[in-house]
Amino acid sequence: MRLDIVSIFPEYFSPLDVSLIGKARERGTLDVRVHQLRDWTHDVHKTVDDTPYGGGPGMVMKPEVWGEAIDAVIAEGAADGDDEAPAAPRIIVPTPSGRPFTQEIAQELAAEPWLLFACGRYEGIDSRVMREYGTRMRVDELSIGDYVLAGGEVAVLVMVEAIGRLLPGVLGNVHSAVDDSFAPGAMRNLLEGPVFTKPPVWRGHEVPEVLLSGHHGKIARWRRDEALRRTIANRPELAAAIDPATLDKHDRKLLEELAFRVGPEDMAH
Ligand code: SAM
Repeated sequence: MRLDIVSIFPEYFSPLDVSLIGKARERGTLDVRVHQLRDWTHDVHKTVDDTPYGGGPGMVMKPEVWGEAIDAVIAEGAADGDDEAPAAPRIIVPTPSGRPFTQEIAQELAAEPWLLFACGRYEGIDSRVMREYGTRMRVDELSIGDYVLAGGEVAVLVMVEAIGRLLPGVLGNVHSAVDDSFAPGAMRNLLEGPVFTKPPVWRGHEVPEVLLSGHHGKIARWRRDEALRRTIANRPELAAAIDPATLDKHDRKLLEELAFRVGPEDMAH
């Protein structure tokens, strides 16, 4: 997978040299290229922003520089690619006003051959940039959460890590991603429960006995109960959206004990 990232702070991306993503880059699973937006300015101050039309505080990133940068990165990528490579990337623009970035979107993006991330700063990028490229290729404006960062770089790091760990061969154990919170499938709306390792007793805290039993069925049951308990405690809106058809008798009993009901009309908790 090829990833191009355009930013006025390329140095933000040094974490992509380490750990799982760093190894995936070394192996060639991920081809990450970080570009300095200011390389496409033409004035001595390398200006990338200007005052907003309509007034108001802050500055807005200029469309001309973004247009030149994106055109150049696309032309370079298309020239580098083999005959089967797509002619255009999918463009991702991080913004707090975008659609929420979720595990499902991470899965979808992990199947793309080429992504281009455009990191905004100040009050964001002139909207015409997204409109212009949206006529020729897929452009997604995505938010990593309901809070405002100073720039898109950290949001792009979050997305690249979430996407990158889903690529084939990146995780040591292929099953890790299957058990994750938010993983697709029957456990979709369940958060992962607590996890433990050796020693069996640490500072007086014991590992739940069932995990030491070697009884796979009981362990799976305990994990599911804990996942349900945790989801209800921490994310009741997720728990309420669990498809009742995916619940077994034991789940229903536990939900009754916790006085929690799932299903579209059962949001009371
Ligand atoms: N005025 C903008 C608004 O309220 O929507 C906020 C701009 S923010 C200070 C500057 C940049 O940080 C954005 O263009 C975006 O790239 C990034 N950013 C901030 N919060 C983000 C979030 N929750 N998700 C993704 N990107 C974010």
